[in-house]
Amino acid sequence: MVVIMLGAPGTGKGTVSAILKEKLGIAHVSSGDIFRKYSSEDSDLGREINSYLQKGKLVPDELTIKMIKERLNEKDVQKGVILDGFPRTEAQAQALDNMLSETGKKVDLVVDLDSPKQEILDRIVTRRICPDCKAVFNTKLNKPKVEGICDNCGAKLYQREDDTAEKVETRIEVYKKETAPLEKYYENTGKLFQIEVTEKTGTMAKEAAEKVMTKINA
Ligand code: ADP
Ligand code: ZN
Repeated sequence: MVVIMLGAPGTGKGTVSAILKEKLGIAHVSSGDIFRKYSSEDSDLGREINSYLQKGKLVPDELTIKMIKERLNEKDVQKGVILDGFPRTEAQAQALDNMLSETGKKVDLVVDLDSPKQEILDRIVTRRICPDCKAVFNTKLNKPKVEGICDNCGAKLYQREDDTAEKVETRIEVYKKETAPLEKYYENTGKLFQIEVTEKTGTMAKEAAEKVMTKINA
C-alpha cells in the first residue's frame, strides 16, 4: 500500500503519518527528515541541501527524486509506505508513478490536509521535534510530559531552524505554487482524500488519522 500525505507545512502531515504507520504497520518515509539528516552533515551535498532548507525553498527535483528512489528501494518499504512530504511537484509525482510502476505498485490514497493559516502559524512556532525518534510535540497543544524532553525516547527536543514565522510564510507560498497543483493531479485519478485539520471542529491529527483509517477500511 502506498499512501501520500499532501498538505501545507504545519497541517500535521508528520503527526498523522506517525499514527498511520502504527495502525497500518507500514513504513513512514519523510523527505524532510531525510534532508535534515543530510543537511547536518559536513559534506558538499549536506551544505547544498542545507542551503535550500534554510531558505524554505524546495530541494531541486533531480536530487530529491534520486534520494527518494534510493530510499524506496530499501527492504522495509516493500510492504507499504506512507510518503510524508514527497512528491511536492508535478515532476516528482510523475517520477513516483514511474518508480512504482517498475515494481508493479501504484499510489493507493492521497491524504490532503488543510488548516486555517493562523493555526498553521501558531502550530509551527510552538513545534518541538525529537532528533532521535522524530516525534513531534508542541509547547501549547501537545506538551511533552517533561518540558523539553521526548516522551518516547528521552532525547532533548529542539526547534527546527526553518520553523520561524518568516520562513513559514515562504514555505506556505512555495506550497501554494509548487505543491497545491498536485491536488488536481490526484483528484483526476480519484485518489484524493481531503481533511480539514482545525481546532474549530476538534479535528486534529488523531481524528484525521481515524478518518483515513475509516476510508481505507471502507
Ligand atoms: P514542512 O512540510 O513542515 O515544510 P518538511 O519536513 O516536509 O516540512 O520539509 C522541510 C524542507 O525539506 C522543505 O522546506 C524543503 O526545503 C525540503 N523538502 C522536503 N521534501 C521535499 C521535496 N519532496 N522536494 C523538495 N524539497 C523538499
Ligand atoms: Zn524521541
